[in-house]
Amino acid sequence: MIKVAINGYGTIGKRVADAVAAQKDMKVIGVSKTRPNAEAFVAKQRGYPLYIADLSKKTAFEKVGLSVAGSVEDMCKAADIIVDATPGDVGATNKPLYAKLGKKALWQGGEDHEIAGFSFNSSCNYKDAIGRQFVRVVSCNTTGLCRIIHAIDNEYGVAHVHAIMVRRGSDPGEIKKGPIDAIVLDPVSVPSHHGPDVLSVLPHISIVTMAMIVPTTMMHMHAIRITTKKDVTKDRVIELVKNHPRLGLIKKTAGIRSTAELKEFAMDLGRQRADLYENCIFEDSIYANKTDLCFFQAIHQEADVVVENIDAIRAMMGGQKDAAASIKSTNDALGFTPIQNNH
Ligand code: NAD
Repeated sequence: MIKVAINGYGTIGKRVADAVAAQKDMKVIGVSKTRPNAEAFVAKQRGYPLYIADLSKKTAFEKVGLSVAGSVEDMCKAADIIVDATPGDVGATNKPLYAKLGKKALWQGGEDHEIAGFSFNSSCNYKDAIGRQFVRVVSCNTTGLCRIIHAIDNEYGVAHVHAIMVRRGSDPGEIKKGPIDAIVLDPVSVPSHHGPDVLSVLPHISIVTMAMIVPTTMMHMHAIRITTKKDVTKDRVIELVKNHPRLGLIKKTAGIRSTAELKEFAMDLGRQRADLYENCIFEDSIYANKTDLCFFQAIHQEADVVVENIDAIRAMMGGQKDAAASIKSTNDALGFTPIQNNH
């Protein structure tokens, strides 16, 4: 059993904790919180030992009925590997602790590539993560881009990618973020950071990305145009998507043309937290003409990196050398198959 600690039990941390708990080969030995909020009560309900970053706040937790198992350092000592899911840039401040204790650790996309010197996506570079001490799982947008670009590259060769990201303004629970009434260029300059971030996983790809933020919380939407090296057909692209364990195909028959309808569909399918771990590629948007391929894909920012974290843990611990086998174990344990044929 791989003993996993989750440092930072927020949007990503709470999902990773539940995904770890669902696996046969790993268990949650603790999660950490900075303050006794609703998520701390969820951790208690799930039975995850609760550790805190600042022990001087122990009484505040105990006053509201939340018992504290110890400090974040205590939690890390008890773990084989730490998933750092603290907010962007906070994770970097935890690296000296993990290094001091000689522990394996993985960070999220809010940190720079340099924190680990290795950026991960299970479909692209699982093997290179085997046995590593430090790994960074790339962001939600980069994960979504890497999965599909790699699949197309394997089949046709990718000459160039141009992607436009329409990003959600905040996660649903974040009441202080915006925008409320604006389309914000993020940034005004081109490229956005997503293109260079894809290169941290797929360094040979030529890519330019542009991004904007809109007033929605549900998902991101990507408009992608790929110039391939060989002629591409719509039927074969659909086949590639259908054969991929982390790509979903939203068929015309479902009548879905928005992120809102997709999330409703995920809820109705009974997905935990209505999470969509897969890229949601709109079948009817796939346009293929010679070496020109275009499509829309929706990305659930809170969910797609969760399954990647599980595969990263397995690769780093070295027990499973095969990417496909790890991906299958992760998906199976979550009862997850990409949306493809269920509509
Ligand atoms: P979040 O704010 O929802 O959760 C972070 C948690 O860490 C909170 O519970 C907070 O209390 C806790 N925390 C803060 N400081 C801490 C400290 N010093 N020690 C321990 N815990 C601390 O953040 P999130 O959205 O889950 O993001 C976490 C990471 O995942 C970031 O790097 C982010 O960029 C990345 N990420 C986020 C999303 C997303 O859409 N939310 C998607 C992909 C990747």
